[in-house]
Amino acid sequence: MAMRKCLIIGAGLAGATAARLLAEKGDTVHVIEKQPHVGGNCYDGMSQAGVIIHKYGPHIFHTNMTEVWDFCQRFADFNFYQHRVMSYVDGQLLPFPINRDTICQLFGIDIGIREIEGFLADEVARSTYKNPPENFRDAVISQVGTYLYEKFFHNYTRKQWAAEPESLSAEIAGRIPIRYNRDNRYFTDLYQGLPIGGYTHMIKNMLDHPSITLELNADYFLARSEYDKPGKYDLKVYTGKLDSYFDEAYGRLDYRSVKFDFRYLDQKQFQPAAVVNYPNDYAFTRITEFKHMTNEQSDKTALCIEYPSADGVPSYVVLNQENIGKRQAYFDHVHDLEEQGGTLFVGRLAEYRYYNMDQVIASVMKKLK
Ligand SMILES: Cc1cc2nc3c(=O)[nH]c(=O)nc-3n(C[C@H](O)[C@H](O)[C@H](O)COP(=O)(O)OP(=O)(O)OC[C@H]3O[C@@H](n4cnc5c(N)ncnc54)[C@H](O)[C@@H]3O)c2cc1C
Repeated sequence: MAMRKCLIIGAGLAGATAARLLAEKGDTVHVIEKQPHVGGNCYDGMSQAGVIIHKYGPHIFHTNMTEVWDFCQRFADFNFYQHRVMSYVDGQLLPFPINRDTICQLFGIDIGIREIEGFLADEVARSTYKNPPENFRDAVISQVGTYLYEKFFHNYTRKQWAAEPESLSAEIAGRIPIRYNRDNRYFTDLYQGLPIGGYTHMIKNMLDHPSITLELNADYFLARSEYDKPGKYDLKVYTGKLDSYFDEAYGRLDYRSVKFDFRYLDQKQFQPAAVVNYPNDYAFTRITEFKHMTNEQSDKTALCIEYPSADGVPSYVVLNQENIGKRQAYFDHVHDLEEQGGTLFVGRLAEYRYYNMDQVIASVMKKLK
């Protein structure tokens, strides 16, 4: 196939993956990014505490997809980090997701892993909820019972979404991991770790190819007619917001945002795990201490305190009926444009989906096959 001229809009993980795959196929690729840096939501860098911080909240790479893992390995060495989260409940730090040790510490009992499933079944049996569950609250209670739901999920969910758990879909709860054993790792995927030197470094390496040019501080919408000139590009890969591409013709797609408050302390360690959730206390949802994830040695430490918020950077898609309806209206256009062959929409913003990093890479790989 003749060499194509491609334009990639956005230099986050989706854009960088697309750029690399197209360049390796023999195409020439121009990447435009509206920010003064690459990386998108994975953007990270060295902090004044001498440890790398993630500017848009903690990012842990985890996947079961060998093809995706192998692709990333080409651009960074990964450490062996296994993510651990604790939850501050009733003045105690308890392992989360709920596992045998969480239950024993919270209830002050000592039971074996073979008894956990039965223990939770008793908790569920003494709880009142609609079965089959029709909302988030009922879906969690059907798995762990009212007591654990109220300690770990009820208030956290209200803070995160500024909505009552009864008004949220049961599907979100389908993914809540519960362990009957003592495995206190947050993820159990085959491959886990963080790129040594950071995600931005990895993404820069992806873009480092003789057929790729990069233009920072370049917003597609500020020069759209120029970029869209007939014959200028054979293929356009769009990774920005779905509604923006269509001038919000079917209305704005909502996002829940997070405000990140970074703190630097003159002490070696602040908390015993990378992330501590605060379901019931304070206005924030969680505190991240980055050095646990990178294993960097420093006399100082860097924290990120997260406050969910209605406005700010787009963080989490809000999958209610209204947004799902709007997304479908946009998707009908996307489908037509993709069928015509000159434009692809990919990534968490362009597909209006909650995607983990590995899912973003997999989605790009699938679209460019
Ligand atoms: C708080 C939080 C924590 C997360 N933690 C994890 C985790 O632990 N593990 C995990 O696997 N995933 C995690 N994720 C998900 C992860 O951030 C995403 O999967 C990934 O960053 C998406 O990459 P993307 O390229 O699709 O989007 P983005 O990273 O948003 O990149 C899009 C890029 O396009 C640029 N752009 C947009 N519009 C234009 C325009 N008009 N012109 C030019 N450029 C434009 C943007 O500036 C941006 O750089 C987390 C997400 C959030 C919100």
